[in-house]
Amino acid sequence: MQVPVASLPKISFEFFPPKTPAGVGKLHATSATLAAWQPEFFSVTFGAGGSTQAGTRDTVFALQAAGYEAAPHLSCIGSSAEQLRIILDAYKTQGIRRLVALRGDLPSGYGGKSAGQFRYANELVSFIRAETGDWFNIEVAAYPEMHPQAPSPDDDVANFVRKANAGANAAITQVFYNTDAYFRFVDEVRKAGSDIPIVPGILPITNYAQLIRFTETCGAEVPRWMQRKLASFHDDTASLCAFGTDVVTEICDRLIAGGAPGLHFYTMNQSAPTLAILNALRPDITHGSLVAVAA
Ligand code: FAD
Repeated sequence: MQVPVASLPKISFEFFPPKTPAGVGKLHATSATLAAWQPEFFSVTFGAGGSTQAGTRDTVFALQAAGYEAAPHLSCIGSSAEQLRIILDAYKTQGIRRLVALRGDLPSGYGGKSAGQFRYANELVSFIRAETGDWFNIEVAAYPEMHPQAPSPDDDVANFVRKANAGANAAITQVFYNTDAYFRFVDEVRKAGSDIPIVPGILPITNYAQLIRFTETCGAEVPRWMQRKLASFHDDTASLCAFGTDVVTEICDRLIAGGAPGLHFYTMNQSAPTLAILNALRPDITHGSLVAVAA
């Protein structure tokens, strides 16, 4: 299916802070390649409890210096109001205008340390609005298959709406491979009274074991037919990646056709798997220049 130019959704790409000079160089190349797709922004993850705070900040500032709109993820669990105020001030001073605001998870080994002053992301969103007004465009997280700690799907929707109403501009979802879950979640949020854009989070598939580990941790389902097919490739990485590109492209097509307002790619700091999907999705776009779809 070829998507008409007019319905091309907004695209954004997520990175994690690199830990080595080689990783920094690789991310520089990855961001330059993906920038050709004219993303709305690049976002950079954050380790709860401040574990990658400097890495997030340095990566965001480097992306900004390269001329891109960059959005740090900011989690509140394990942080005090004063610590968050300092980070917000630093971002504001630097001219950062967008944040992904999260509760986060306490890292293992955090032991008996306090979870901090903020229990949930809605409290962080309220705090950011109280401290900085409308300076930041705030993205929050959404869970089409329910956050693993929520008591029920209905409670999770109600909690999401509370977070949206606290002042979020838009949301990015957890990864999912079941488009029905996404569309139903959006419907339920609309019925519960929030109309903020909810952008699907897209994770390219490049490694079976990693995919299962990651989706189990975050409570997302990989349908059994997909698991069986992926497992059948064994060490044939090329065939696994080709199948993954095919499946994820179809998912993106369905999401766009169903009205998803954008696509947020979890790139894992690699450009090739995401580019394979984008190229399959929009063969009429080359190097970021839109050309008319041939009749
Ligand atoms: P919340 O919205 O606070 O929800 C957490 C749980 O509490 C849910 O079960 C919810 O139903 C419930 N809840 C919410 N509000 C209330 C309330 N007022 N009363 C009672 N219950 C409530 N983690 C990181 O550490 N770093 C990252 O950079 C990062 N980036 C992410 C990006 C995206 C797009 C997504 C989807 C997730 C990301 N995460 C990241 C993971 C996220 O931190 C975890 O999923 C975390 O467990 C929940 O964060 P949250 O902001 O969704 O929390």
